[in-house]
Amino acid sequence: MTSHEIRRHFLDFFQSKQHLIVASAPLVAKNDPTLMFNNSGMAQFKDFFLGNGNPPSRRVADTQKCLRVSGKHNDLEDVGFDTYHHTMFEMLGNWSFGDYFKKEAITWAWELLTEVYKLPKDRLYVSVFEGDQKDNVPFDQEAFDLWEPIVGKDRIIYGNKKDNFWEMGDTGPCGPCSEIHVDLRSPEEVAQTPGKDLVNADHPQVVEIWNLVFMQFNRKADGSLEPLPARHVDTGMGFERLCMAIQGKKSNYDTDVFTGTIGVIEEVSGMTYGGTMDKADVTMRVIADHIRAVSFAIGDGLVPSNAKAGYVIRRILRRAIRYGYSYLNLTEPFMTKLVPTLAAQFADVFPELNAQRDFVATVIREEEISFLRTLGTGLGRLDQIIADLSGRQESVIPGETVFELNDTFGFPADLTALIAREKGLSIDDAGFQKALQEQKARSRKDASSSAGDWIDVNEVDGTRFVGYDQTEADTFIVKYRKVQNKQGTQYQIVLAETPFYAESGGQIGDTGVLVLTTGEQVRMIRIVDTKKENDLSILIAADKDLDDLLESATSAHAVVDADRRMLTSSNHSATHLLHAALRDVLGTHVAQKGSYVGPDALRFDFSHFSKVTDEQLAQVERIVNEKIRQDIPLDEKRNVPIVQAKELGATALFGEKYGDFVRVITFDPAYSVELCGGTHVPATGHIGLFKFTGEGSVSTGIRRIEAKTSVGAEALVNEQMAVISELKELLKAPKDIVKAVQSLIDERIALQKQVDAMQNEKVQQLKNELLTKIQPVNGHMVLVERVDVPNAEALKQLAYDLKAKVDNLALVLGADINGKPQLAVMLPDSLIQDKHMNAGQVVKELAKNIKGGGGGQPFFATAGGSESSGLDAALAQGKALLG
Ligand code: ATP
Ligand code: MG
Repeated sequence: MTSHEIRRHFLDFFQSKQHLIVASAPLVAKNDPTLMFNNSGMAQFKDFFLGNGNPPSRRVADTQKCLRVSGKHNDLEDVGFDTYHHTMFEMLGNWSFGDYFKKEAITWAWELLTEVYKLPKDRLYVSVFEGDQKDNVPFDQEAFDLWEPIVGKDRIIYGNKKDNFWEMGDTGPCGPCSEIHVDLRSPEEVAQTPGKDLVNADHPQVVEIWNLVFMQFNRKADGSLEPLPARHVDTGMGFERLCMAIQGKKSNYDTDVFTGTIGVIEEVSGMTYGGTMDKADVTMRVIADHIRAVSFAIGDGLVPSNAKAGYVIRRILRRAIRYGYSYLNLTEPFMTKLVPTLAAQFADVFPELNAQRDFVATVIREEEISFLRTLGTGLGRLDQIIADLSGRQESVIPGETVFELNDTFGFPADLTALIAREKGLSIDDAGFQKALQEQKARSRKDASSSAGDWIDVNEVDGTRFVGYDQTEADTFIVKYRKVQNKQGTQYQIVLAETPFYAESGGQIGDTGVLVLTTGEQVRMIRIVDTKKENDLSILIAADKDLDDLLESATSAHAVVDADRRMLTSSNHSATHLLHAALRDVLGTHVAQKGSYVGPDALRFDFSHFSKVTDEQLAQVERIVNEKIRQDIPLDEKRNVPIVQAKELGATALFGEKYGDFVRVITFDPAYSVELCGGTHVPATGHIGLFKFTGEGSVSTGIRRIEAKTSVGAEALVNEQMAVISELKELLKAPKDIVKAVQSLIDERIALQKQVDAMQNEKVQQLKNELLTKIQPVNGHMVLVERVDVPNAEALKQLAYDLKAKVDNLALVLGADINGKPQLAVMLPDSLIQDKHMNAGQVVKELAKNIKGGGGGQPFFATAGGSESSGLDAALAQGKALLG
């Protein structure tokens, strides 16, 4: 069975059990402050488990792209060294949202594995939760009673809380789980050790393939558990592991999920993959794995960068490059060559990668070029460190240094250790670990915040956003909680109906006020921001001690700062006009890679490989302003099925999480059609004016444009006009200031020429005067004088000119140049050779008189200082020295 068939059968199987098949969410988690990447199938459904929204169906199944490289699930360091953990993998899953429970989940899992996939029953083991007294959670008798008649007592393992109890976080839904493990060893090995003994023992051929989670409790902030009113099922099966089991392989990398990519790696490196633990084989696994994570992440809208998720992607890519560089001798970009094979392989399942194949390959290539350069620099630095240590007869590279190499040059400790070993040195691994831990502790501290339980105030059946149609609403509080974070204490409030737009899709959150009524009392609190958590819209109030007020308020009047919202909407609509104009002028490869839309300005990041020229910018600006003047009315369609939206020609933004229904914003169907959840002006004329304020590069292949609209653009123009009028006045040139400035510059150049000529003449005079003052002393010629020169360069020139005229000249010249004392010392060869004198040392000595320092060569040196009053003393000392 090919991997394609295996995936297909999974989805078909659950479709036949009335499941709705949905698309994978992007790798990058959106609107979830606790998660950087989607790391399990359930992540995109969190809201449904939390009761914050309604699922499109109570039974759902899909294959979800997952990435486990940060936070709670981080498998990065195992990848390559074992054969069944990946950074990015597919998780096949089926869900019940308050619908079926353990019985169906267990029966269907067994049916699929043994009847559809025909996995041998005597090679499967299942686990049930054994219970935890300390935590007051009981043994999962129900699951045991369901499994026992299917697999028999002997194939059931009792799992502890760590392996068999799932929790969403410190608080929230949780419950016991049943895992299914498969034993893939040879019959001889099985005869020696029973598979049951190897379950959960990190054996590479006895692995967990499927986890069935039964959500039935809710954990509260005080640690206690309460039963959930609606019970859910959440299952996750590792697709690559399943392929290994079905295809009878001993490693995920031997399945057809990976063999294509490994083939290309073999071609590029000229080596053959042997599946061993040798470094070269580990490296091929690392590369085959990492290229998936990096390509899919970029395909989902991320770009390697120095912060947050972008940094994680950069680190994964660099890990692969480093391994290739160290163990396969790949010193030229090679990861980029793997992209086409991968894109073709997944074209039908995850078309987003194929659609952006060239962009992804280019971003990766540019990253490789720059990192290979860094590696070169790092190697140089390491050579130098090793030479220094060897010079001092030391043989251990300090942990701090190893850490620094790691941090700044991306040199992992094992690469440093390897190179060190080749030179007969070692590294202080304990010191390195300590430095690493310290850094981790620092970043943990930065991220720490704590949230209390949600306090339910009023029961509602779902909350509603009404902000597209109104900026005020009469409503009431659904729930609130108190949160402690870097900003101090905040209250987060959820309203039944909210006109407040929560930050998302680049548009920042609304601010405003909430007027709360309790009996006769009316109080107003300020809303400083609105954020999204999954799909829940949360108002943020910065006031202290609001508990009583929030709990007792009987009604709430919510008022958005409408002026601010209007400016933000102007910038948002302008962003759409800009996007369309850029595609017109630069080409349809322009895809949005990020944006900021606030009341003050807009920022738009997009894929494009060269600078946008001034002419192109001018053209784009002209188009956008023309569209504004045309006053095109907004056409807003809500709840459009995604298929239909695509037919309308909507520019799909890769990496956005689109439900099955989307909102389509159109300004002229022939010009701008976008999927967008933001707020917009009723017609483009409201934008008033659009002006660029900047264009630049964000990272490889990504440009950034900044602009202002409406009153912001007007203020910008006014400021510039004011500067121009001021200049006109200063230059007394009411008409052509450019000409006036040009003639000012020409005049300045002419004057400078005159000044230079005059100074030159003066220095010549001075030189002639000085020539008469030179005295023979002890076989050489001596001149010690205070002179008047315009600058340090002239002083040096004077010394050299005199040397050219007079043989065997020893001179000390001092000058006060605009209040700063300056010295020059020149010595003849005779003094340097016979008396071992050195102009550099002499000038340093003399400079003490003027509180200064300097240096140079043995025959000529200069010094500057801060006390001109010491010049005469310096010259006197010079005279004494030169005899
Ligand atoms: P393991 O203990 O093997 O790391 P897990 O307990 O972390 O697995 P779950 O979080 O239950 O796994 O995820 C569900 C399924 O996803 C697992 O049964 C497994 O098949 C698969 N899986 C988990 N992590 C990975 C990974 N890093 N690479 C590939 N598949 C994975
Ligand atoms: Mg794990």
